[in-house]
Amino acid sequence: MNEPYGYRRRELVEPDWTRFPGWRDVTGADWASAQWQRAHCVKNIEQLKGVLGDLVSEVFYADLAADQQRFATMSMLVPPQMINTMVPAGAADWTAAFYADPVRRYMIPVASDRRADWPSHPNASRDSLHEHDMWVAEGLTHRYPTKVLAELLSTCPQYCGHCTRMDLVGNSTPSVDKLKLSLKPTDRYAAMLAYLAAHPEVRDVVVSGGDVANVPWRNLEAFLNRLLDLDSVRDIRLATKALAALPQHWLAPDVVEGLGRVAARARSQGVNLAIHTHVNHAQSVTPLVARAARVALDAGVRDVRNQGVLMRGVNDSAEALLDLCFALHGEAGVLPYYFYMCDMIPNAEHWRVALWQAQQLQHDIMGYLPGYATPRIVCDVPFVGKRWVHMAAEYDRELGISWWNKGYRTQLEVAEGITEGRQYAYYDPIDTLPEVGRKFWSRDAPSRVA
Ligand code: SF4
Repeated sequence: MNEPYGYRRRELVEPDWTRFPGWRDVTGADWASAQWQRAHCVKNIEQLKGVLGDLVSEVFYADLAADQQRFATMSMLVPPQMINTMVPAGAADWTAAFYADPVRRYMIPVASDRRADWPSHPNASRDSLHEHDMWVAEGLTHRYPTKVLAELLSTCPQYCGHCTRMDLVGNSTPSVDKLKLSLKPTDRYAAMLAYLAAHPEVRDVVVSGGDVANVPWRNLEAFLNRLLDLDSVRDIRLATKALAALPQHWLAPDVVEGLGRVAARARSQGVNLAIHTHVNHAQSVTPLVARAARVALDAGVRDVRNQGVLMRGVNDSAEALLDLCFALHGEAGVLPYYFYMCDMIPNAEHWRVALWQAQQLQHDIMGYLPGYATPRIVCDVPFVGKRWVHMAAEYDRELGISWWNKGYRTQLEVAEGITEGRQYAYYDPIDTLPEVGRKFWSRDAPSRVA
């Protein structure tokens, strides 16, 4: 950081949605309704035009169409709440402001955002974390000794352009034919619960998807109660970007009441029930989002934590990260927890930052927030898991290859006879490398070091 960060308290603001031609007549009651929000999500270019009218030029829409045809790994789905956090104060030149907007840059990517030289890293892959390879039941990934990820469904109320689960989540796009869950939800949940019952060493369950906001509440509550029947489960984390993207869902009376019932039971059993959300920019933290977080805490959830994604052009400065953290922690009661480096999925190079940049950002954000609210920037290393960015065992900055290890083996590694001590690679974006590294990848990519 060149200049020290200058903290000042900023009041949260709900941007005025009537600045959009398509929402000029939308009432406060409509806006507060989860049903209205879901029914008015923007799913295609025509609908986006219907909202923005002629604020944004045809050049932008053509750029968006080109992206959807050639690059997009996620289909379009953006709730009004999220669109309303883009260009929050309006602009004289809307097209330029919309292009530059950090929330737009990851929710509505356009072709000109992507890198022309290296849109994908040669070692990028659809399921870059190999979660599917580690399924022990459909949707249940067991890659840490004591923790599992339960993907209850493959949909969300919003689709993020950089989604790490682009292999499974959302609708197929011209460039990605999505994997489909094959079991009926009840059978999938039963298989997951049977695995957990048979594996008491698993104490921590991330209940995710997709986004749990798309599981009908009754079904989610039933699943959570079955988890709470298991003495071995001591931590339950509900993964939902909707807390910020569709806070109206988490403010709906049936959801609040249901969450209160589950939280009371968890608390009585000494189980840590938390909500993990996903906010990447301070613009997204509005009074409604703060209210949804506070209501969840009042309902008895132990913590609401944020797991953002560190992305170029979105939040890759100490100022952007700290603005977000102070909005979350100081104004909304949400604990800044992690920033993940953007994963190595196809067509994501324009979002990814190099490891050294992430290390520098971690350094630069230290010292401003209370220690318990200072987020860790982490690299989710394929086959290793989340590691703090300073934990790389070796790092070749010229070639952009970092090497990582861990102190345990997954079941997959045991099955394959892989011994402890193996190192796994992670790769910097090629455009961030010095010339020698760029030449190396142009000449020798991709398989030499995979
Ligand atoms: S909310 Fe999460 S799972 Fe859903 S599209 Fe965004 S990143 Fe992917």
